[in-house]
Amino acid sequence: MKINLVTKLPGKRSLEVLKILHQLNGAHPNVHPFVHSGKGQGCYFKDLDGNTFLDFASQVASLPLGYNHPDLLEVLKKYSNSTPIKYAGQDFMVKEHADLLEELLNIVPKGFTNAFLLNSGAEAVENCIKIAMRGRPHTQFGICFEGSFHGRTLGALSFTTSKKLYTSNYLHIPRKILSFTHKAPEELEILIKHYGPEAVGFVMFEPIQGEGGYRPFPFQLVKELRKITKQNGIPLIADEVQCGMGRTGTWWALEQYKCNADIMSAAKALQVGACIANKIDFPKEAGAISSTWGGGHVLDMAMGLQIIKTIKKNDLLGHIISMGGYLRKRLLELQDYELIDDVRGFGLMQAFDMADDKERNNMVVECFKNGLVVLGCGHKGIRLIPPYIVTKNEIDEAIGVIDMCLKKVRKKGFKHYGQICNYLYCGENHT
Ligand code: PLP
Repeated sequence: MKINLVTKLPGKRSLEVLKILHQLNGAHPNVHPFVHSGKGQGCYFKDLDGNTFLDFASQVASLPLGYNHPDLLEVLKKYSNSTPIKYAGQDFMVKEHADLLEELLNIVPKGFTNAFLLNSGAEAVENCIKIAMRGRPHTQFGICFEGSFHGRTLGALSFTTSKKLYTSNYLHIPRKILSFTHKAPEELEILIKHYGPEAVGFVMFEPIQGEGGYRPFPFQLVKELRKITKQNGIPLIADEVQCGMGRTGTWWALEQYKCNADIMSAAKALQVGACIANKIDFPKEAGAISSTWGGGHVLDMAMGLQIIKTIKKNDLLGHIISMGGYLRKRLLELQDYELIDDVRGFGLMQAFDMADDKERNNMVVECFKNGLVVLGCGHKGIRLIPPYIVTKNEIDEAIGVIDMCLKKVRKKGFKHYGQICNYLYCGENHT
């Protein structure tokens, strides 16, 4: 397949659906203006109007095998004759629950022995926070980082600092925020000294900050964080919802840092949320943590299981490293023309910066208008997170679009036109 736009964007059929969603969806939509048709192959999908797009956003990092992967279509067939698809999985067991736990706990770093499955990334984070606090009755606050994104439920949101928009007027769990600089270990030590280690419920970080800008933590900083938390008996939580499950070329981004943590969250590419820790860290009382549907969505669990198996079977981690290297090389070539700044990331989790937020927003819109789906991150970043099966040709096609769009949006007096600006945020120069 290749990018192929056959209508104006959004097309007529997509527009009909988008109008309804705009009217009825309670969350203010900032959506890419197309509607999925369910058709597509690999890194490409078709919208309702027959336009073919190249997807370098992977459903926000949750589509590791791309569209209509044959292994996942096989899984789907298996479930076409039985309901329910969602069981009350913490109360009534299904085999898929055990199968996924076994496979997942085979790929996690040493020391993690148990997992608790949930419905989303935010819920996974919530439960990481809960199990950390449960074991620490003198907790006064938790610690997170400037630029963090841990989810939108109130507990996870309490430790989300990437944008004020997400948190305004919401009460939060007591927290302290460390700067994303080499000063963070010193700041942590000052807090521990002042309040005592027992007051600190946990320190939570994303090894590679996601929504906050695809900023990998400096290696030394992670080492020092681990050292200080260990010395003081404070649980270290690694939020791997976005960077985990293979995206960086190792199963977990923590492995890139040759470092461990005490508690870890996963979701997105796993298709279900997971709070992962050592058995001793989970509450001993039945019902202390639970969720009706957690560990009960059989299709999601079967898909998650197959995704792990397919990554292993097809050595996709090796493929991610080699394609990630190629993507990075192509981006660095663009950086050499001084068209973009600060190419960064691991594996197929790469990003670069534009001049400012307006130019970045224009770039996201312009790429879309040329058939390439990308997402922003942080203040002025663009993230590139294609499915793990992406090929060199597809990377070349994406870089071709990016190169062309960079030249366009950098031209003096650049203006958008058409209906797309009614949907996505773009620079102020649109007509
Ligand atoms: N943690 C991280 C690092 C994330 O990137 C996200 C979502 O983007 C979440 C937590 C929340 O996940 P969800 O949107 O599935 O609740």
